[in-house]
Formats: sequence, structure tokens, C-alpha cells
Amino acid sequence: MQLYNTITRKKEEFRPLNPPKVTMYMCGPTVYDYFHIGNARSFIMSDILRRYLQFKGYQVKFVMNLTDIEDRIIKKSIDANKSADEIAGLYSDAFFEDIKKLRVREADLYPKATLHVQEMIELIKDLEKNGSAYNVDGDVFYDVKKFSGYGKLSGKKLDELEAGARVDVNEIKHNPLDFALWKKAKPGEPSWDSPWGKGRPGWHIECSAMSTKHLGETIDIHAGGNDLIFPHHENEIAQSEGVFKKQFVQYWIHFGFLNIQNEKISKSLGNFFTARDVLARHSAESVRLFFSQTHYGGPLNFSDELLTSAQKGVDKIINLAERIEQLLLLDNENGNVPSFNIQNFLTEFEKVMDDDLNTPQAVAVIFDFVRSANKIIDENEKLSKKSLIEMKSFLQKTAEEVLGIVHFDELKKNNQPSLEEDLLKLLVDLRETLKLEKNYKLSDEIRNRLNSLGIILADSKTGATIKRK
Ligand code: AMP
Ligand code: ZN
Repeated sequence: MQLYNTITRKKEEFRPLNPPKVTMYMCGPTVYDYFHIGNARSFIMSDILRRYLQFKGYQVKFVMNLTDIEDRIIKKSIDANKSADEIAGLYSDAFFEDIKKLRVREADLYPKATLHVQEMIELIKDLEKNGSAYNVDGDVFYDVKKFSGYGKLSGKKLDELEAGARVDVNEIKHNPLDFALWKKAKPGEPSWDSPWGKGRPGWHIECSAMSTKHLGETIDIHAGGNDLIFPHHENEIAQSEGVFKKQFVQYWIHFGFLNIQNEKISKSLGNFFTARDVLARHSAESVRLFFSQTHYGGPLNFSDELLTSAQKGVDKIINLAERIEQLLLLDNENGNVPSFNIQNFLTEFEKVMDDDLNTPQAVAVIFDFVRSANKIIDENEKLSKKSLIEMKSFLQKTAEEVLGIVHFDELKKNNQPSLEEDLLKLLVDLRETLKLEKNYKLSDEIRNRLNSLGIILADSKTGATIKRK
């Protein structure tokens, strides 16, 4: 399987350190608000990557952190007159509710920053000891000049970065690019004891500490949105490699940004659609299909119309799934076994997904399959159970397990016929009686009017069979 690695700027063969185990870390939410539909894109695409690795037989340990102490949380807590803990608690709960609704599979762990402050302090102490960090009166900074690889992820050179950096008048840092590892406590802010006095960790050290603690010093995959490449991930590398002196991450995966009408999602532009707003209008499956129809690495524009049209695609898959389930209820042990090579579709699905997770092509393979399967069902009065089970299994492996756009255990259950089915049966029985009574005018009218509704009655010796157009 090939994956595009941000740090080498090319597609590379994926070779985890200890196969079949894969360690994967995803930068999770800062829990200061409901997350928006742009965040949802990153959460869903990381979920699809993880699911696909599982499909390939890897045992993935997937960790997504919760940033529950950060500037934005403190600001919100002051604005809302609540404690930072209350704000983080409220929006963590909302986060779990929303990702569940989006069918994002639960991570193996959701470490919280506030429960790892000691680990962060240890890392900062090590950085200070080896000369990579300095303390200015209770604020501790990372000295980027001490890390020769600084800029290797974002592809920027230190002097270019320095030229572009904003210099604060009250600068206490040695270099404008140096970043905070530990922030001295300000009145009213949450704080922890440390060797540098009371304070709180900087955002970047949170992820270095939590990923090392739960996944080790070198991890296979580290993922997040594009916006995190610089400075967040660049700084994570400087911190972790600055302490452990070994490669921090094998494969850096970044998700393209979701925009709304080509604008960045932001509160001030009034286009901050929360995932819950969107889920009140659209299904999770349509959101997932919509995201899957574009490669994860590129930008994507969001609109309600696009989700409505994605729903039509979801419906096509659901219709086929329901059709298969319905046919499986019949006794069709001796049905036809059409020459329909499902394995070819599966091979094609895997081939395109192996090419840097080409979900748009994978979706195209699924729709090709849907068309072919429907045609085969139409053409064969009876299909063998084996063929139907194979069809079901293709959809389960691809559309359900990997993309999460259909859910077999939630399909309409047709063991109990619906009223529509009952009424249809009633009409067909009535027509049989009319035919026996030689009332062909009325029996033909029933057949013609059903035909105009898309229901085709084909007479046979054993009675009429029903087909849908
Ligand atoms: P945050 O809560 O802002 O730290 O973001 C949580 C995750 O969503 C991170 O992995 C971000 O990179 C990602 N993210 C933020 N905004 C967008 C966006 N508009 N499109 C895609 N991903 C985003
Ligand atoms: Zn992070």
C-alpha cells in the first residue's frame, strides 16, 4: 500500500515498524466548542484510513487526543463565566456524541492533555537539560536553532521562517520562532506546579507527550488537518526528536481543508456549520460518501446541495442492500449462479485504495458493482443463496466496513411485509380472481396501472411474478 508522506513529499510503500501492528496518532479536537463540518472531514478521513488498514489485516492502535487545556478553552471559559474544566467537559461530551453520529469508530484511547501534565513536564525537563529549551522567568521556550531538522516537515528553511515571523514588542524569546513549552500562570487561569513555578503546558508538547506515552517513541502514522503541518507538527518533531534523538514519525498524513463557498470556515464569516447542524439536515452516510468522493489530500468545497446529491448515491447502495436481504429471505437454494466475478470488483477496490487511499475511485468501483448486481438480479428470476451472500459480502467489506456508508443491521427488515407489500399482494390476488372470472378488461387495467407505477407483473403458469422497474 502506498501513502503520500508529507515529510518526504512523495508516495511511499507503507511499511509499519512491527507488522501486523500499526500505531496511529491523530490530532483530535480542542474541546472549546461543537466541532465544525471541516473538523468532521479530518475525523472521518482518519477513520477511513484506520478502517482500511484493518481491512488489510493490520492491527491498528488508534489514539486521538483531546486538547482540554489551551488558549481557546480559557478564553471561552472567561466569556461563558464557567471553569475551563466545565467547558472542556461539556464539549468533550458533545464531541463523543457527534463522532458517534458520524459513524467514526471509537479510538482505542482518547488521552486528555490535563491528565498528562506530568509527562509533559518530564519532556520539558529533558529538553532543558540537553540545552534545547530555556526558561525566562517561569516561561519555558524551545530554542529552534538547537534542532538542525527544524523546517523539515513543512519544507521551510530556518532563515526564511525567521524572516516571516512576527516579532512582538515585548519579546522575551531569543528568537521569534522559539515556541512555548511551558506558560507561566496568569491570574485566574488553570495552572499546575512545575520546576519553573506554576503554569500550564504549551499546545505542541501535549501531543509529543501523549503520543509517546501511548504509542512509543517512534510511531507509524501521525495524522491531522493541513493546518497543523506548521507550526504544530513541525514543533512536535523538534520536541520528540530533540529528546529521544530518533525518528518521531514514519508517515505524516495530512487532510485537505474543507471550505464553504471557497472561504475558510470561520465564525466571523458566518459559515461555521457545526457537524450537529449538518446532521440535523443530512444523514451521516451522505456526509461520509461526500467526503469519500474527493481524495483526502485535496481541498474540498462544502454545500447542502452536494450532500443532497450524495444522499442519492447512498440510497442506491441501500436499495441494493435491501434487495439482497429480501431475496435472501426466500428459499432459493436452487437458484441461478450467474457468471458475475465479485472478486474482480474486490481486487479493483483494493488496488485503488492501495494507491494512497483513492476513495473517489473506490466509490466508483462500488457504484459499478451496484449497477452490475442490480442488472443480474433483474435478469435472473431466482439467484442462488451463494451468489446473494457474495454480493452482500462485497458491500459489507467495502461500503460498510471501510467507508461506513451503509449499515446492514439497520436496513428495513422485510420479514414482516410492509403495508405496501400487503396491498400489492392483494391487487395481484384480486387480478388472479378477475382472470378466472374472465374479466380481462379489469385484470389488464390493474396490470397496466401497476406498470405505470413501475411494477411489472409477468404471468406464468404458477401465477404472476412481481418485478420492479
Ligand atoms: P481543532 O479542534 O481546531 O484543533 O481541529 C481538530 C482537527 O480538525 C485537526 O486535525 C485540524 O487539523 C482539523 N481541521 C480544522 N479545520 C479544518 C477544516 N476546515 N477542514 C479539515 N480539517 C480541519
Ligand atoms: Zn497535535
